[in-house]
Amino acid sequence: MTPRAKTLAELRTDVEAGRVARRSVKSEVRDNLITKLRAGETLFPGIIGYDDSVVPQVVNAILSRHNFILLGLRGQAKTRILRALTTLLDEWIPVVPGCEIHDDPLSPLCAGCRKLVRADGEGLPIEWLHRDQRYVEKLATPDVTIADIIGDLDPIKAARASLELSDEMTMHYGLVPRANRGIFAINELPDLAGKIQVGLFNILQEGDVQIKGYPVRLPLDLLMVFSANPEDYTARGKIITPLKDRIGSEIRTHYPASRQHAMQITRQEAWAQRDSGKIDVQVPEYVREVVEEVAFQARQRSGVSQRLPISLLENVVSNAERRALATGESTAVPRITDIYAAIPAITGKFELEYEGELKGADNVARELIRAGVANVFEGHFPNADLRQVTEWFDLGGTLQIDDTLSSPELLSRTDGVQGLHDAARPICPAKRPSDPALASAIDFVLEGLYAQRKISRSVEGHFQAGEQPKRAPRNVDQLTERDLPLRGDKKKYYN
Ligand SMILES: [Zn+2]
Repeated sequence: MTPRAKTLAELRTDVEAGRVARRSVKSEVRDNLITKLRAGETLFPGIIGYDDSVVPQVVNAILSRHNFILLGLRGQAKTRILRALTTLLDEWIPVVPGCEIHDDPLSPLCAGCRKLVRADGEGLPIEWLHRDQRYVEKLATPDVTIADIIGDLDPIKAARASLELSDEMTMHYGLVPRANRGIFAINELPDLAGKIQVGLFNILQEGDVQIKGYPVRLPLDLLMVFSANPEDYTARGKIITPLKDRIGSEIRTHYPASRQHAMQITRQEAWAQRDSGKIDVQVPEYVREVVEEVAFQARQRSGVSQRLPISLLENVVSNAERRALATGESTAVPRITDIYAAIPAITGKFELEYEGELKGADNVARELIRAGVANVFEGHFPNADLRQVTEWFDLGGTLQIDDTLSSPELLSRTDGVQGLHDAARPICPAKRPSDPALASAIDFVLEGLYAQRKISRSVEGHFQAGEQPKRAPRNVDQLTERDLPLRGDKKKYYN
């Protein structure tokens, strides 16, 4: 609906004729949701992997007209879901022009608007507010005050207008009243001081707010939504029980359940289509898979947001782009080696436990990549016989391969390794792969063998035969490939 009414009189006619809906925010959101559900529309475009878990629960909360909270670890699209709620609001609503709390012209709350209506009557001009302006978001921090959230008196306003301090016109509205007739979102709710949470509880309980020092109560119309990270509960704060009790639905978010979902999210969010003009960037599937697998591996240690694989893929593409710029190649195909070169996008995005602190973030990151490569490699080469390649190294062959090598140079250095090029070819997307694509596939085979400990490699990219164990561990056959790389080099073999 495009807004039409320009005066209070016109608005009244439109409302009476049913052309403009008047209802609470929760009813409005519910009605529009029902319309979308009937039409079979995608409710939250761009939210991937929640169709059978989070989305149905959010729908139920809205149908129930609940205030709700999303509980989940970092980077689980909590804020994105909350922001997407604006798509369930009417596109435009009528407001009194200039009102800080977006008063309904047909029943204004604030003294200023009531005064205007008295003065202008049915000729009062109407303004229309777009739904994008009806969402207020606040990141909770311990220093947020009642004045920020609810409001207080504004002595300057009072002095300018030479009003009594208790006059309503001297009120300074906080974020909650300013979100009136819209959605108010608080992120990281446990970080909010207990007494502010009590203030919120009162709003949810009473359905109105009272600003300290004023006799009036404002019956606000709001949908209140929250997010919290359960990891922070004990570390930094908590949600007070009465407030929890007033939040209708508590919905748990989660990390992508499958590598496919995760890759879809990263594909959507990462900046991989570069504008370097002359360089064509082609990211192989196995590179995307390893990038995702690094995040999955890291999550076995701590909460790691989807921002890790997103930043990682961006840095991987950049490293390939940088190589192409240096070597003058027109196609950049990222390699596994580029993932190792992109460690700055990994460290800092996970918490190091004590053991990790001792190893150092870089080494932990290298282990994560290696473990990721091992898993992905296993998927691409489940039964491949790469003995020819490992034998070449066992017979004393060595290779120096690093991320700066041009594709032709990489191909020529590896040309003599029996079986290597043949093993790499089938994983290239094209039958007759370009040099950069084949170079990347060869790099994948070498890194895969290294990840599986069939050959060894130094940090500088010197490949040689695998280390011969000083004495054969007795039950090494019981160790899965998944165990091997995860635990790193210092794994003790227990009987
Ligand atoms: Zn007003």
